[in-house]
Amino acid sequence: MVLSKTAGDADVNLRCTFASRYACSSLPRLKIPEGSMPKEAAYQIVKDELMLDGNPRLNLASFVTTWMEPECDQLIMASINKNYVDMDEYPVTTELQNRCVNIIAHLFHAPVGDDGTALGVGTVGSSEAIMLAGLAFKRKWQAKMKLTGKPFTNPNIVTGANVQVCWEKFARYFDVELKEVKLREGYYTMDPGEAVELVDENTICVAAILGSTLTGEFEDVKLLNELLTKKNEETGWDTPIHVDAASGGFVAPFLYPDLEWDFRLPLVKSINVSGHKYGLVYAGVGWVVWRSHHDLPDELVFHINYLGSDQPTFTLNFSKGSSQIIAQYYQFIRLGFEGYNSIMENCMQNAKILKEGIAKTDRFNIVSKDVGVPVVAFSLKDSANYTVFQISESLRRFGWIVPAYTMPPNAEHVAVLRIVVREDFSHTLAERLISDMEKVVREFDAMLPRAAVKEAHVTANDGKRSEKSVLEVQRDVFSYWRRISDKKSSGVC
Ligand SMILES: *Cc1c(COP(=O)(O)O)cnc(C)c1O
Repeated sequence: MVLSKTAGDADVNLRCTFASRYACSSLPRLKIPEGSMPKEAAYQIVKDELMLDGNPRLNLASFVTTWMEPECDQLIMASINKNYVDMDEYPVTTELQNRCVNIIAHLFHAPVGDDGTALGVGTVGSSEAIMLAGLAFKRKWQAKMKLTGKPFTNPNIVTGANVQVCWEKFARYFDVELKEVKLREGYYTMDPGEAVELVDENTICVAAILGSTLTGEFEDVKLLNELLTKKNEETGWDTPIHVDAASGGFVAPFLYPDLEWDFRLPLVKSINVSGHKYGLVYAGVGWVVWRSHHDLPDELVFHINYLGSDQPTFTLNFSKGSSQIIAQYYQFIRLGFEGYNSIMENCMQNAKILKEGIAKTDRFNIVSKDVGVPVVAFSLKDSANYTVFQISESLRRFGWIVPAYTMPPNAEHVAVLRIVVREDFSHTLAERLISDMEKVVREFDAMLPRAAVKEAHVTANDGKRSEKSVLEVQRDVFSYWRRISDKKSSGVC
Protein backbone atom coordinates (compact mmCIF):
# COMPACT_ATOMS: atom_id res chain seq x y z
CA MET A 1 0.00 0.00 0.00
CA VAL A 2 1.53 3.36 -1.03
CA LEU A 3 0.87 5.73 1.80
CA SER A 4 2.78 8.87 0.94
CA LYS A 5 3.88 10.65 -2.20
CA THR A 6 6.92 12.52 -0.84
CA ALA A 7 10.33 11.26 -1.85
CA GLY A 8 11.65 11.17 1.71
CA ASP A 9 8.88 8.81 2.67
CA ALA A 10 9.47 6.45 -0.23
CA ASP A 11 11.97 4.37 1.69
CA VAL A 12 9.80 4.16 4.73
CA ASN A 13 6.81 3.18 2.63
CA LEU A 14 8.72 0.40 0.99
CA ARG A 15 9.61 -1.15 4.29
CA CYS A 16 6.43 -0.39 6.14
CA THR A 17 3.29 -2.41 6.06
CA PHE A 18 -0.03 -0.93 7.08
CA ALA A 19 0.56 -2.03 10.63
CA SER A 20 3.96 -0.47 11.25
CA ARG A 21 3.03 2.77 9.52
CA TYR A 22 -0.31 3.53 11.19
CA ALA A 23 -1.01 1.11 13.97
CA CYS A 24 2.29 1.05 15.81
CA SER A 25 1.31 3.74 18.27
CA SER A 26 -1.80 4.06 20.34
CA LEU A 27 -4.78 5.59 18.53
CA PRO A 28 -6.25 8.96 19.49
CA ARG A 29 -8.74 8.65 22.32
CA LEU A 30 -8.95 12.13 23.71
CA LYS A 31 -8.07 14.68 21.07
CA ILE A 32 -8.65 14.87 17.35
CA PRO A 33 -5.36 13.95 15.58
CA GLU A 34 -3.32 16.72 13.96
CA GLY A 35 -3.14 15.21 10.51
CA SER A 36 -5.23 13.02 8.26
CA MET A 37 -4.66 9.42 7.27
CA PRO A 38 -5.54 7.53 4.10
CA LYS A 39 -9.07 6.20 3.93
CA GLU A 40 -7.92 2.59 3.59
CA ALA A 41 -5.91 2.87 6.80
CA ALA A 42 -8.73 4.51 8.76
CA TYR A 43 -11.13 1.85 7.54
CA GLN A 44 -8.81 -0.98 8.49
CA ILE A 45 -8.02 0.41 11.92
CA VAL A 46 -11.64 0.95 12.89
CA LYS A 47 -12.70 -2.38 11.44
CA ASP A 48 -9.95 -4.21 13.28
CA GLU A 49 -10.75 -2.71 16.64
CA LEU A 50 -14.39 -3.71 16.14
CA MET A 51 -13.33 -7.35 15.83
CA LEU A 52 -13.30 -7.41 19.61
CA ASP A 53 -17.03 -6.74 19.84
CA GLY A 54 -19.22 -9.79 20.32
CA ASN A 55 -20.89 -11.34 17.29
CA PRO A 56 -24.42 -9.83 17.10
CA ARG A 57 -25.89 -13.05 15.73
CA LEU A 58 -24.74 -14.95 18.82
CA ASN A 59 -25.99 -12.21 21.14
CA LEU A 60 -28.88 -14.00 22.77
CA ALA A 61 -29.30 -11.17 25.27
CA SER A 62 -31.19 -8.92 22.93
CA PHE A 63 -34.60 -8.78 21.29
CA VAL A 64 -33.25 -6.46 18.64
CA THR A 65 -33.04 -7.68 15.04
CA THR A 66 -29.62 -8.80 13.83
CA TRP A 67 -30.46 -10.13 10.38
CA MET A 68 -32.45 -8.85 7.41
CA GLU A 69 -32.64 -9.91 3.81
CA PRO A 70 -29.93 -8.54 1.49
CA GLU A 71 -32.61 -6.78 -0.60
CA CYS A 72 -33.66 -4.84 2.45
CA ASP A 73 -30.04 -4.07 3.33
CA GLN A 74 -29.84 -2.49 -0.13
CA LEU A 75 -32.91 -0.35 0.49
CA ILE A 76 -31.40 0.74 3.78
CA MET A 77 -28.10 1.75 2.19
CA ALA A 78 -29.93 3.58 -0.59
CA SER A 79 -31.77 5.76 1.94
CA ILE A 80 -28.98 6.21 4.47
CA ASN A 81 -28.59 9.86 3.40
CA LYS A 82 -32.26 10.80 3.84
CA ASN A 83 -33.29 12.84 6.86
CA TYR A 84 -36.72 11.67 7.90
CA VAL A 85 -37.77 15.09 9.16
CA ASP A 86 -37.59 16.66 5.69
CA MET A 87 -41.10 15.45 5.05
CA ASP A 88 -41.88 17.88 2.28
CA GLU A 89 -38.73 16.88 0.41
CA TYR A 90 -39.28 13.17 0.91
CA PRO A 91 -43.07 12.81 0.76
CA VAL A 92 -42.93 9.15 -0.19
CA THR A 93 -40.99 8.27 2.96
CA THR A 94 -43.60 10.14 5.01
CA GLU A 95 -46.30 8.21 3.20
CA LEU A 96 -44.57 4.92 4.05
CA GLN A 97 -44.45 5.84 7.75
CA ASN A 98 -48.18 6.64 7.66
CA ARG A 99 -48.92 3.31 6.01
CA CYS A 100 -46.90 1.55 8.72
CA VAL A 101 -48.88 3.38 11.44
CA ASN A 102 -52.16 2.32 9.82
CA ILE A 103 -51.05 -1.28 9.39
CA ILE A 104 -49.97 -1.50 13.04
CA ALA A 105 -53.16 0.20 14.28
CA HIS A 106 -55.24 -2.34 12.35
CA LEU A 107 -53.20 -5.22 13.78
CA PHE A 108 -53.98 -3.83 17.25
CA HIS A 109 -57.69 -3.40 16.46
CA ALA A 110 -57.73 0.39 16.77
CA PRO A 111 -61.14 1.91 16.02
CA VAL A 112 -59.91 3.69 12.88
CA GLY A 113 -61.83 6.46 11.11
CA ASP A 114 -64.03 6.08 8.04
CA ASP A 115 -61.02 6.42 5.77
CA GLY A 116 -59.21 3.64 7.66
CA THR A 117 -56.44 5.91 8.91
CA ALA A 118 -55.12 5.85 12.46
CA LEU A 119 -53.20 8.12 14.82
CA GLY A 120 -49.62 7.22 15.63
CA VAL A 121 -45.99 8.00 14.96
CA GLY A 122 -42.69 6.31 14.18
CA THR A 123 -39.99 6.77 16.82
CA VAL A 124 -36.40 5.73 17.44
CA GLY A 125 -37.61 2.85 19.59
CA SER A 126 -40.11 1.95 22.26
CA SER A 127 -38.36 4.20 24.78
CA GLU A 128 -39.19 7.34 22.80
CA ALA A 129 -42.66 5.93 22.08
CA ILE A 130 -43.23 5.44 25.82
CA MET A 131 -42.06 8.99 26.64
CA LEU A 132 -44.62 10.32 24.14
CA ALA A 133 -47.45 8.11 25.36
CA GLY A 134 -46.62 8.96 28.97
CA LEU A 135 -46.60 12.69 28.19
CA ALA A 136 -50.00 12.43 26.54
CA PHE A 137 -51.44 10.75 29.66
CA LYS A 138 -49.82 13.31 31.94
CA ARG A 139 -51.23 16.24 29.96
CA LYS A 140 -54.69 14.74 29.75
CA TRP A 141 -54.75 14.10 33.49
CA GLN A 142 -53.47 17.62 34.26
CA ALA A 143 -56.12 19.21 32.04
CA LYS A 144 -58.82 17.19 33.79
CA MET A 145 -57.58 18.12 37.28
CA LYS A 146 -57.33 21.80 36.35
CA LEU A 147 -60.87 21.77 35.03
CA THR A 148 -62.17 20.46 38.34
CA GLY A 149 -59.95 22.79 40.40
CA LYS A 150 -57.94 19.98 41.93
CA PRO A 151 -54.16 19.87 42.54
CA PHE A 152 -52.28 18.67 39.49
CA THR A 153 -48.66 18.53 40.60
CA ASN A 154 -48.32 14.99 41.93
CA PRO A 155 -49.06 12.61 39.07
CA ASN A 156 -48.19 8.94 39.40
CA ILE A 157 -48.10 5.93 37.14
CA VAL A 158 -48.72 2.32 38.18
CA THR A 159 -46.55 -0.49 36.74
CA GLY A 160 -45.10 -3.82 37.78
CA ALA A 161 -41.59 -3.88 39.27
CA ASN A 162 -40.65 -5.84 36.14
CA VAL A 163 -40.93 -2.80 33.85
CA GLN A 164 -38.14 -1.98 31.47
CA VAL A 165 -35.81 0.84 32.54
CA CYS A 166 -37.38 3.31 30.07
CA TRP A 167 -40.42 3.62 32.38
CA GLU A 168 -38.14 4.65 35.22
CA LYS A 169 -36.57 7.16 32.84
CA PHE A 170 -39.99 8.51 31.88
CA ALA A 171 -40.91 8.88 35.56
CA ARG A 172 -37.70 10.69 36.43
CA TYR A 173 -37.40 12.90 33.33
CA PHE A 174 -41.03 14.02 33.43
CA ASP A 175 -41.64 14.18 37.18
CA VAL A 176 -44.12 11.39 37.57
CA GLU A 177 -44.04 9.12 40.60
CA LEU A 178 -43.56 5.45 39.67
CA LYS A 179 -45.74 3.17 41.81
CA GLU A 180 -44.53 -0.37 41.33
CA VAL A 181 -46.40 -3.56 42.11
CA LYS A 182 -43.81 -5.82 43.70
CA LEU A 183 -43.10 -9.27 42.33
CA ARG A 184 -42.78 -12.45 44.37
CA GLU A 185 -41.00 -15.75 43.85
CA GLY A 186 -42.77 -17.69 41.11
CA TYR A 187 -44.82 -14.65 39.94
CA TYR A 188 -42.78 -12.28 37.79
CA THR A 189 -45.39 -10.01 36.21
CA MET A 190 -47.68 -7.26 37.48
CA ASP A 191 -50.60 -8.65 39.47
CA PRO A 192 -53.64 -6.80 37.99
CA GLY A 193 -55.50 -6.83 41.32
CA GLU A 194 -52.62 -5.25 43.22
CA ALA A 195 -52.09 -2.74 40.41
CA VAL A 196 -55.68 -1.54 40.61
CA GLU A 197 -55.35 -1.20 44.38
CA LEU A 198 -52.41 1.19 43.87
CA VAL A 199 -54.48 3.42 41.56
CA ASP A 200 -55.60 6.72 43.05
CA GLU A 201 -56.97 10.00 41.75
CA ASN A 202 -53.47 11.09 40.68
CA THR A 203 -52.77 8.03 38.57
CA ILE A 204 -52.25 9.08 34.95
CA CYS A 205 -52.37 5.48 33.69
CA VAL A 206 -51.60 1.85 34.47
CA ALA A 207 -48.90 0.44 32.19
CA ALA A 208 -49.14 -3.26 31.41
CA ILE A 209 -46.44 -5.17 29.54
CA LEU A 210 -47.08 -7.55 26.70
CA GLY A 211 -43.92 -9.56 26.86
CA SER A 212 -42.14 -8.91 30.14
CA THR A 213 -38.50 -8.08 29.51
CA LEU A 214 -37.42 -10.56 32.17
CA THR A 215 -39.36 -13.67 31.20
CA GLY A 216 -41.26 -12.86 27.99
CA GLU A 217 -44.55 -13.48 29.81
CA PHE A 218 -47.71 -11.56 28.82
CA GLU A 219 -49.47 -9.62 31.56
CA ASP A 220 -53.21 -10.14 31.88
CA VAL A 221 -54.43 -6.91 30.27
CA LYS A 222 -57.99 -8.20 29.94
CA LEU A 223 -58.32 -8.78 33.67
CA LEU A 224 -56.69 -5.42 34.35
CA ASN A 225 -59.24 -3.76 32.07
CA GLU A 226 -62.08 -5.49 33.94
CA LEU A 227 -60.85 -4.60 37.42
CA LEU A 228 -60.01 -1.04 36.48
CA THR A 229 -63.39 -0.51 34.81
CA LYS A 230 -65.01 -1.55 38.07
CA LYS A 231 -62.83 0.79 40.11
CA ASN A 232 -63.49 3.65 37.69
CA GLU A 233 -67.24 3.06 38.05
CA GLU A 234 -67.01 3.05 41.83
CA THR A 235 -64.83 6.15 42.13
CA GLY A 236 -65.92 8.21 39.15
CA TRP A 237 -62.31 8.36 37.86
CA ASP A 238 -61.37 7.35 34.35
CA THR A 239 -57.89 5.91 34.77
CA PRO A 240 -56.69 4.56 31.40
CA ILE A 241 -54.31 1.74 30.40
CA HIS A 242 -51.20 1.85 28.24
CA VAL A 243 -49.80 -1.40 26.86
CA ASP A 244 -46.04 -1.65 26.48
CA ALA A 245 -45.95 -4.21 23.67
CA ALA A 246 -42.30 -3.49 22.81
CA SER A 247 -41.53 -7.18 22.37
CA GLY A 248 -44.97 -8.81 22.17
CA GLY A 249 -46.75 -6.43 19.79
CA PHE A 250 -45.53 -8.28 16.73
CA VAL A 251 -45.91 -11.73 18.32
CA ALA A 252 -49.41 -11.77 19.80
CA PRO A 253 -51.35 -10.69 16.67
CA PHE A 254 -49.76 -13.51 14.66
CA LEU A 255 -49.60 -16.33 17.22
CA TYR A 256 -52.49 -15.56 19.55
CA PRO A 257 -55.05 -13.62 17.50
CA ASP A 258 -57.81 -14.36 20.02
CA LEU A 259 -55.89 -13.01 23.00
CA GLU A 260 -57.51 -9.70 23.96
CA TRP A 261 -54.83 -7.31 25.08
CA ASP A 262 -55.14 -4.36 22.66
CA PHE A 263 -57.67 -1.70 21.60
CA ARG A 264 -60.41 -4.33 21.84
CA LEU A 265 -60.27 -3.46 25.56
CA PRO A 266 -61.93 -0.04 26.03
CA LEU A 267 -59.51 1.34 28.63
CA VAL A 268 -56.45 0.76 26.43
CA LYS A 269 -55.73 4.22 25.03
CA SER A 270 -52.25 3.80 23.58
CA ILE A 271 -49.83 1.02 22.67
CA ASN A 272 -46.13 1.06 21.83
CA VAL A 273 -44.18 -1.57 19.92
CA SER A 274 -40.53 -1.85 18.88
CA GLY A 275 -40.20 -2.22 15.11
CA HIS A 276 -36.63 -3.31 15.75
CA LYS A 277 -37.65 -6.29 17.92
CA TYR A 278 -40.15 -8.76 16.46
CA GLY A 279 -41.08 -6.11 13.87
CA LEU A 280 -37.91 -7.56 12.29
CA VAL A 281 -36.04 -4.32 11.45
CA TYR A 282 -32.50 -3.35 12.56
CA ALA A 283 -32.11 -1.10 15.63
CA GLY A 284 -33.66 2.35 15.34
CA VAL A 285 -37.44 2.09 14.96
CA GLY A 286 -40.40 2.00 17.33
CA TRP A 287 -44.07 2.92 17.09
CA VAL A 288 -46.77 4.40 19.25
CA VAL A 289 -50.44 4.31 18.32
CA TRP A 290 -53.33 6.09 20.05
CA ARG A 291 -56.93 4.91 20.18
CA SER A 292 -58.24 8.28 18.97
CA HIS A 293 -57.57 12.00 18.69
CA HIS A 294 -59.12 12.47 22.15
CA ASP A 295 -56.22 10.58 23.66
CA LEU A 296 -53.44 12.77 22.26
CA PRO A 297 -53.73 16.39 23.52
CA ASP A 298 -53.29 18.72 20.57
CA GLU A 299 -50.94 21.00 22.53
CA LEU A 300 -48.24 18.29 22.29
CA VAL A 301 -48.32 18.23 18.50
CA PHE A 302 -46.02 20.75 16.82
CA HIS A 303 -46.69 22.11 13.40
CA ILE A 304 -43.63 22.90 11.35
CA ASN A 305 -43.94 24.72 8.07
CA TYR A 306 -40.52 26.04 7.15
CA LEU A 307 -39.68 22.86 5.29
CA GLY A 308 -42.40 23.52 2.77
CA SER A 309 -45.86 22.69 4.05
CA ASP A 310 -47.63 22.25 7.34
CA GLN A 311 -46.35 19.07 9.00
CA PRO A 312 -47.58 17.96 12.38
CA THR A 313 -44.83 16.30 14.41
CA PHE A 314 -44.84 14.67 17.79
CA THR A 315 -41.39 13.29 18.57
CA LEU A 316 -38.61 14.11 20.98
CA ASN A 317 -35.89 14.36 18.35
CA PHE A 318 -35.98 16.41 15.16
CA SER A 319 -33.63 14.82 12.59
CA LYS A 320 -33.30 11.08 12.18
CA GLY A 321 -32.68 8.49 9.48
CA SER A 322 -35.39 7.24 7.12
CA SER A 323 -33.93 3.78 6.50
CA GLN A 324 -35.63 1.99 9.36
CA ILE A 325 -39.08 3.22 8.40
CA ILE A 326 -38.52 2.15 4.81
CA ALA A 327 -37.25 -1.22 6.06
CA GLN A 328 -40.34 -1.64 8.24
CA TYR A 329 -42.61 -1.12 5.26
CA TYR A 330 -40.50 -3.58 3.26
CA GLN A 331 -41.02 -6.24 5.94
CA PHE A 332 -44.78 -5.66 6.06
CA ILE A 333 -45.27 -6.12 2.33
CA ARG A 334 -42.59 -8.74 1.91
CA LEU A 335 -43.79 -11.03 4.72
CA GLY A 336 -47.47 -10.27 5.08
CA PHE A 337 -49.50 -11.88 7.85
CA GLU A 338 -48.45 -15.30 6.61
CA GLY A 339 -44.74 -14.53 6.74
CA TYR A 340 -44.79 -12.99 10.23
CA ASN A 341 -46.88 -15.90 11.43
CA SER A 342 -44.45 -18.50 10.16
CA ILE A 343 -41.39 -16.67 11.53
CA MET A 344 -43.00 -16.37 14.97
CA GLU A 345 -44.07 -20.04 14.89
CA ASN A 346 -40.53 -21.00 14.04
CA CYS A 347 -39.08 -18.88 16.88
CA MET A 348 -41.52 -20.52 19.31
CA GLN A 349 -40.52 -23.95 18.04
CA ASN A 350 -36.83 -23.19 18.61
CA ALA A 351 -37.60 -21.80 22.06
CA LYS A 352 -39.38 -25.08 22.81
CA ILE A 353 -36.36 -27.13 21.70
CA LEU A 354 -34.13 -25.02 23.94
CA LYS A 355 -36.53 -25.29 26.86
CA GLU A 356 -36.66 -29.07 26.60
CA GLY A 357 -32.90 -29.39 26.25
CA ILE A 358 -32.29 -27.16 29.26
CA ALA A 359 -34.88 -29.00 31.35
CA LYS A 360 -33.22 -32.29 30.43
CA THR A 361 -29.96 -31.30 32.15
CA ASP A 362 -31.95 -31.49 35.37
CA ARG A 363 -30.07 -28.51 36.78
CA PHE A 364 -32.56 -25.74 36.00
CA ASN A 365 -36.08 -24.52 36.66
CA ILE A 366 -37.72 -22.93 33.63
CA VAL A 367 -39.30 -19.64 34.71
CA SER A 368 -40.64 -18.44 31.33
CA LYS A 369 -44.10 -19.55 30.21
CA ASP A 370 -45.22 -21.40 27.09
CA VAL A 371 -47.41 -18.49 26.02
CA GLY A 372 -45.50 -15.25 25.50
CA VAL A 373 -42.64 -14.00 23.38
CA PRO A 374 -40.06 -16.65 22.38
CA VAL A 375 -37.82 -16.32 25.41
CA VAL A 376 -36.39 -18.99 27.65
CA ALA A 377 -35.60 -17.83 31.18
CA PHE A 378 -34.29 -20.33 33.69
CA SER A 379 -32.77 -20.44 37.14
CA LEU A 380 -30.47 -22.96 38.82
CA LYS A 381 -32.19 -25.51 41.03
CA ASP A 382 -29.17 -25.44 43.30
CA SER A 383 -26.71 -22.55 43.29
CA ALA A 384 -24.70 -23.65 46.30
CA ASN A 385 -21.71 -24.62 44.17
CA TYR A 386 -21.96 -22.39 41.10
CA THR A 387 -24.14 -19.54 39.97
CA VAL A 388 -25.96 -18.51 36.81
CA PHE A 389 -23.40 -15.72 36.47
CA GLN A 390 -20.61 -18.27 36.20
CA ILE A 391 -22.58 -20.22 33.61
CA SER A 392 -23.08 -17.04 31.61
CA GLU A 393 -19.35 -16.32 31.82
CA SER A 394 -18.43 -19.86 30.72
CA LEU A 395 -20.77 -19.82 27.72
CA ARG A 396 -18.82 -16.82 26.39
CA ARG A 397 -15.98 -19.21 25.73
CA PHE A 398 -18.05 -20.78 22.96
CA GLY A 399 -19.08 -17.38 21.62
CA TRP A 400 -22.57 -17.37 23.18
CA ILE A 401 -23.76 -14.24 24.92
CA VAL A 402 -26.41 -15.32 27.43
CA PRO A 403 -27.10 -12.75 30.15
CA ALA A 404 -27.72 -13.56 33.80
CA TYR A 405 -29.45 -11.18 36.20
CA THR A 406 -31.36 -11.02 39.45
CA MET A 407 -35.10 -10.36 39.47
CA PRO A 408 -36.52 -7.01 40.67
CA PRO A 409 -38.10 -6.57 44.15
CA ASN A 410 -39.37 -8.62 45.93
CA ALA A 411 -37.82 -11.53 44.08
CA GLU A 412 -34.20 -10.29 44.15
CA HIS A 413 -33.03 -13.60 45.53
CA VAL A 414 -33.93 -15.31 42.23
CA ALA A 415 -31.21 -15.10 39.57
CA VAL A 416 -31.93 -16.25 36.03
CA LEU A 417 -30.32 -16.77 32.65
CA ARG A 418 -32.31 -15.57 29.64
CA ILE A 419 -32.17 -16.57 25.99
CA VAL A 420 -34.09 -14.51 23.45
CA VAL A 421 -34.92 -16.52 20.34
CA ARG A 422 -34.87 -14.40 17.21
CA GLU A 423 -35.59 -15.15 13.57
CA ASP A 424 -31.94 -15.84 12.79
CA PHE A 425 -31.49 -18.39 15.58
CA SER A 426 -31.87 -21.77 13.91
CA HIS A 427 -32.79 -25.25 15.06
CA THR A 428 -29.15 -26.33 14.62
CA LEU A 429 -27.86 -23.43 16.71
CA ALA A 430 -30.37 -24.33 19.42
CA GLU A 431 -29.03 -27.89 19.52
CA ARG A 432 -25.46 -26.58 19.57
CA LEU A 433 -26.24 -24.24 22.46
CA ILE A 434 -27.81 -27.06 24.45
CA SER A 435 -24.76 -29.23 23.94
CA ASP A 436 -22.43 -26.38 24.99
CA MET A 437 -24.60 -25.75 28.02
CA GLU A 438 -24.36 -29.43 28.99
CA LYS A 439 -20.58 -29.22 28.66
CA VAL A 440 -20.42 -26.18 30.92
CA VAL A 441 -22.60 -27.75 33.59
CA ARG A 442 -20.61 -31.00 33.51
CA GLU A 443 -17.38 -29.03 33.85
CA PHE A 444 -18.67 -27.17 36.88
CA ASP A 445 -19.84 -30.41 38.44
CA ALA A 446 -16.46 -32.03 37.88
CA MET A 447 -14.24 -29.02 38.50
CA LEU A 448 -15.51 -28.34 41.94
CA PRO A 449 -13.77 -31.00 44.04
CA ARG A 450 -10.64 -30.99 41.86
CA ALA A 451 -10.16 -27.22 42.00
CA ALA A 452 -10.61 -27.20 45.71
CA VAL A 453 -8.09 -29.98 46.33
CA LYS A 454 -5.56 -28.44 43.97
CA GLU A 455 -5.96 -24.97 45.44
CA ALA A 456 -5.49 -26.28 48.95
CA HIS A 457 -1.91 -27.26 48.13
CA VAL A 458 -0.98 -24.11 46.32
CA THR A 459 1.30 -21.63 48.03
CA ALA A 460 -0.54 -18.64 49.42
CA ASN A 461 0.20 -15.03 48.35
CA ASP A 462 2.60 -14.31 51.17
CA GLY A 463 4.91 -17.13 50.11
CA LYS A 464 4.01 -19.48 52.96
CA ARG A 465 2.29 -22.78 52.40
CA SER A 466 -1.45 -22.44 52.68
CA GLU A 467 -2.80 -23.89 55.87
CA LYS A 468 -6.34 -23.78 54.55
CA SER A 469 -8.51 -26.82 54.48
CA VAL A 470 -10.07 -28.03 51.29
CA LEU A 471 -13.42 -26.73 52.44
CA GLU A 472 -12.05 -23.29 53.25
CA VAL A 473 -10.44 -22.97 49.85
CA GLN A 474 -13.63 -24.12 48.23
CA ARG A 475 -15.47 -21.35 50.06
CA ASP A 476 -12.87 -18.81 48.97
CA VAL A 477 -13.27 -19.83 45.36
CA PHE A 478 -17.01 -19.35 45.53
CA SER A 479 -16.89 -16.07 47.35
CA TYR A 480 -14.45 -14.84 44.70
CA TRP A 481 -16.94 -15.75 41.96
CA ARG A 482 -19.79 -14.23 43.86
CA ARG A 483 -17.94 -10.94 44.19
CA ILE A 484 -17.50 -10.88 40.42
CA SER A 485 -21.03 -11.94 39.66
CA ASP A 486 -22.70 -9.62 42.17
CA LYS A 487 -21.52 -6.70 40.08
CA LYS A 488 -23.40 -8.10 37.11
CA SER A 489 -26.98 -8.07 38.16
CA SER A 490 -28.43 -5.77 35.53
CA GLY A 491 -28.12 -4.83 31.90
CA VAL A 492 -30.94 -6.52 30.01
CA CYS A 493 -32.66 -4.84 27.15
C1 LIG B 1 -37.12 -3.39 24.79
C2 LIG B 1 -38.19 -2.90 25.65
C3 LIG B 1 -38.38 -1.52 25.87
C4 LIG B 1 -37.44 -0.50 25.31
O1 LIG B 1 -37.55 -0.51 23.93
P1 LIG B 1 -36.48 0.13 22.92
O2 LIG B 1 -37.15 -0.11 21.63
O3 LIG B 1 -35.22 -0.64 23.09
O4 LIG B 1 -36.33 1.57 23.26
C5 LIG B 1 -39.45 -1.12 26.65
N1 LIG B 1 -40.29 -2.02 27.20
C6 LIG B 1 -40.15 -3.36 27.01
C7 LIG B 1 -41.12 -4.29 27.62
C8 LIG B 1 -39.09 -3.84 26.23
O5 LIG B 1 -38.95 -5.15 26.05
